[in-house]
Amino acid sequence: MGAYIIPMKCDFTLSKYRDVCQAIVSSGYVALNVHDYLTQGYANNCIILRHDVDRKPDRAQKMAHIEHDHGITSTYYFRTVKEVFQPGIIRDISDLGHEIGFHYEVLDKAKGDENKAILLFKSELEELRKIAKITTICMHGNPLSSWINRDIWNKYDFNDFGIIGEAYLSIDYSNVSYFSDTGRAWNSSKHSIKDIVEDNPYKGTIRSTDELIDLIQSQTQQNICILTHPNRWTDNFGAWMFELIWQNIKNKGKSMIKYRKT
Ligand SMILES: [Zn+2]
Repeated sequence: MGAYIIPMKCDFTLSKYRDVCQAIVSSGYVALNVHDYLTQGYANNCIILRHDVDRKPDRAQKMAHIEHDHGITSTYYFRTVKEVFQPGIIRDISDLGHEIGFHYEVLDKAKGDENKAILLFKSELEELRKIAKITTICMHGNPLSSWINRDIWNKYDFNDFGIIGEAYLSIDYSNVSYFSDTGRAWNSSKHSIKDIVEDNPYKGTIRSTDELIDLIQSQTQQNICILTHPNRWTDNFGAWMFELIWQNIKNKGKSMIKYRKT
């Protein structure tokens, strides 16, 4: 299967991601990682780029190189589960000048026990800090668990751990149009339960990456935040089909979860 190249019209490929990077560098926006957004005070005309590395870290590595080719730095949030926590890959992405962040899921792992969860947060953060400097974090949202990982900060303060920001809590989204590839639909809230941002100034619909590129080029948004899950982006046809089918199954599952909640 690996020998087949997927047709140009397919979305969520690395060549499509290259087009996104091209659109960003040829636009009037400044591309920023989360750390730089929070510390440099660019209030206008920026695109915050953030990636959640949930699975397949080698695909994040490919994306990181594509951004580097365009002179862009972004933030890669790594989970500390066995498949994802690959020191060689994390170091390589960090060496390209990207920010590494911690994609934590400690409330899930501790089954809701906050005391256990915060100890886990501290030790996993220390492991990640052996490889790269970590100053920002972002929760992982497992649609099948009943906890929301960022709720740990109702009780504790991430500043106490040398962390300056949490991607859901520290960015003022009333000022930033937010697009996520969750559900492969960019800004459909239909399929995303936990990585949704309530306060999104962009009210339209973006169905494809080409439409996102058009929006970037139109320069109509003050600021933009783009979240991708690099495991969904591949030029390998077999792997691409797998992601498409797996996403459909997950979307169906999520619809059922939402249905039960309402
Ligand atoms: Zn995640």
